[in-house]
Amino acid sequence: AAKTPSFDKDRDYIGFATLPEQVHRKSVKRGFEFTLMVVGESGLGKSTLINSLFLGDLYKNRQMPNVEERIEKTTRVEKKTMDIEERGVRLRLTVVDTPGFGDAINCEDSWRVCTQYIDEQFRQYFTDESGLNRRNIQDNRVHCCLYFVPPWGHSLRQMDLDLIRRLHRKVNIVLVIGKADCLNKTEVRKLKERILQDLEDNHIQLYQFPECDSDEDDDFKQQDRELKASIPFAVVGSNTILEVAGKKVRGRQYPWGVVNVEDAEHSDFIKLRTFLISTHMQDLKDTTQVSSSRSLRCPPLLTYCVPPSQDVHYENFRAQCISQISQHALRERGKLKRDSISSTNGFDAAISETDRLLLQKDEEIRRMQDMLTQMQEKLKQTH
Ligand code: GDP
Repeated sequence: AAKTPSFDKDRDYIGFATLPEQVHRKSVKRGFEFTLMVVGESGLGKSTLINSLFLGDLYKNRQMPNVEERIEKTTRVEKKTMDIEERGVRLRLTVVDTPGFGDAINCEDSWRVCTQYIDEQFRQYFTDESGLNRRNIQDNRVHCCLYFVPPWGHSLRQMDLDLIRRLHRKVNIVLVIGKADCLNKTEVRKLKERILQDLEDNHIQLYQFPECDSDEDDDFKQQDRELKASIPFAVVGSNTILEVAGKKVRGRQYPWGVVNVEDAEHSDFIKLRTFLISTHMQDLKDTTQVSSSRSLRCPPLLTYCVPPSQDVHYENFRAQCISQISQHALRERGKLKRDSISSTNGFDAAISETDRLLLQKDEEIRRMQDMLTQMQEKLKQTH
């Protein structure tokens, strides 16, 4: 007969209700990772905003190139990592910056650098995931791309559209209007409307907020509605702490008054921070997990894996890689078959070796095709 452990004697429940706490404890121990790519031309307030968001100083030793250097300059990728801890929870934040973006007269390589970087991280993750040590994979995939739009001008520029069009199926893009204190309320509203219209006209889908669960409380639902309605976020950044009416605020002092960065009436900074850090960080990571691009040659059988929605980006990329490997195996098989036919009057030993390789290839292809079918089923269910 099964022995009841003494410590369980008086218990009238099974005990799995502690599962969330167990997961929580384990995750806290492990810590969290988040990679944010920041893209936009220089001077739009990107570094100031990142420092304001994460209360750090990630750009201490930054050197500004002069105008001649900027004309020649190509876009680079620079990675900065910061370990943050809040109430015992550790977050390793990586900010991927793209200095030189849009600086040169010919900006064509700007988007190429960004897309290549994102693809490389997917590829690296795919290689690591297919290797032996899958438990300790360093996840360098880009979970979110903050794309900065200037407050001047009337909407998106060709250069913005060029980049967004190339990235929107690879990464969660969140649009941010930088230096929004240059605009009044009506101008902000109009600029947002025109940007959204441009995106729609160009069939561009940025990060999609997940639907709010019906059992969430009313405050959460209201917050979610407000966040969705604020897109693209019009932000003001500042690394200066000012004193206003006896209270310390992060703000910008002007001759006519103070812009309080954290005041929802002055800018969407707080909304962006809530979205990015407090409410949607995990969803941005989940969406990245299964994402990729249609711009990477997509085999016909996978073309339905379209919208960059929940669980899309990396899985899609992975499915394409496996499909490409399986096509390669098919080509190799064809070659082996041809060799085997052309050597029919050759030696028996050579033929049996070719037959063995053919069988091996058949097995490999069958395995890949099984995997692909499973993935397609999973993706179909997701959408
Ligand atoms: P980056 O090159 O995009 O990283 O831009 P920086 O963060 O270095 O900012 C460039 C300049 O704009 C600096 O002088 C900042 O103090 C200023 N700046 C940063 N954020 C804002 C903002 O929200 N509004 C205004 N008016 N100026 C800003």
